[in-house]
Amino acid sequence: MNNTELFNRSLKVVPGGVHSPVRSFKGLDYTPRFIKKGDGAYIWDEEDKRYIDFCMSFGPLILGHNNPQVKEAIIQAVYNGWSYGACERYSLELAEFMINHISFIEQVRFVNSGTEAVMTALRLARGYTGKSKIIKFNGCYHGHVDSMLIKAGSGLAGTAEASSLGIPASYAEETLIVELNDLENLKQCFEDHKNQIAAVIIEPLPANNGLLTQSDEFLKGVQKLCKENYSLLIFDEVISGFRVAFGGMAEETGIIPDIVTYGKIIGGGMPVGAIAGSAEIMKTLAPLGGVYQAGTLSANPVAMQAGLACLKVLSDQQFYPNLEKITAQVCDLFFQWFSGYKEGEFSDYAIHSKSSLFWIVPSKEPLKSINEIPADIMTPFNKLENTLLPKGIYLSPNPYEVGFASSAHENVLDHLKESLWS
Ligand SMILES: *Cc1c(COP(=O)(O)O)cnc(C)c1O
Repeated sequence: MNNTELFNRSLKVVPGGVHSPVRSFKGLDYTPRFIKKGDGAYIWDEEDKRYIDFCMSFGPLILGHNNPQVKEAIIQAVYNGWSYGACERYSLELAEFMINHISFIEQVRFVNSGTEAVMTALRLARGYTGKSKIIKFNGCYHGHVDSMLIKAGSGLAGTAEASSLGIPASYAEETLIVELNDLENLKQCFEDHKNQIAAVIIEPLPANNGLLTQSDEFLKGVQKLCKENYSLLIFDEVISGFRVAFGGMAEETGIIPDIVTYGKIIGGGMPVGAIAGSAEIMKTLAPLGGVYQAGTLSANPVAMQAGLACLKVLSDQQFYPNLEKITAQVCDLFFQWFSGYKEGEFSDYAIHSKSSLFWIVPSKEPLKSINEIPADIMTPFNKLENTLLPKGIYLSPNPYEVGFASSAHENVLDHLKESLWS
């Protein structure tokens, strides 16, 4: 069966044919590719077509597909059994490894997804401070928790409305929205809601609505305002943690959040999430404190061992400099390829990157807020996909998603060059 036949079958039994919306290739001429295997930087679809993959499962696969160390850890783990609902040493070893390598965290709790980590972080912040409102930045994504599916409303600074059906207005009221790269806006929001803000949550490297890299000054300003208002600062490092550096943006900038959430890379490609912070704050979680949180499959031993095997590779001093070098070469190839086009074709595209993340967008200027993103990026992206997919180059199938390079891309640079100019 070809990709389109499989997708048509899927449409009958799964809403929209997918288990997560971006996978649907919505707005594109192509139907989703059904992937049957991956190895290194490559994936193969059910028609046996091979692609150089820059989606990499949306971020977790920083070592590429089918990495031997992670695979071996998973096999060894499964050999012994795969869930106990009891204490085991696999999560202990992963927690110790993280805490030994990330100076600012003292305790960690494992969950099953980034969404779950954010949900717990918000409850923890509210329980710890006794305040109820959360400030979120327009354009940052924090998973599909009700209170985070909120966008800027029209009108006063901080007003918000739900960006999904099914979210009561009374929930939406507890979230306030401010713009990225705008400290005045944040300051005003704190003033308008004095003593009500439990926490400010931010992707310190916003990378779910394009790549909207913020300045260190802005992040420092956010932290200062949190301190002045006795509100917690939550860094959602589900995408940036173990990606821009082992300790994520907190390590990179030296700006230390009160609570940090991780996901994606920390499970080596298995489902996982984590909440971490100081022992002082983390002790507010059950069973020590009054903030309830639990999970039947939390700290799943297979995911824990996959994660530990992955983090061990990442802890090598040379890992990140090397990965950044590979990414720079990938970006350079795309840039040269775009430059070869006449005006009105792909020549207005640029590629903006930060460590091993990159974003292909028709704007030469780096962007810092969602209001700066050109209005229609879907039409040109569809054209780009129609050109790249037949060449065997697989991007995340949506213009607002970033691309991910992995250490395995080192081996496909020549092939990428050949494919682009084929
Ligand atoms: C991916 C992501 C999430 C959600 O994680 P899931 O595992 O998909 O639930 C939350 N926050 C950020 C910053 C993310 O990139």
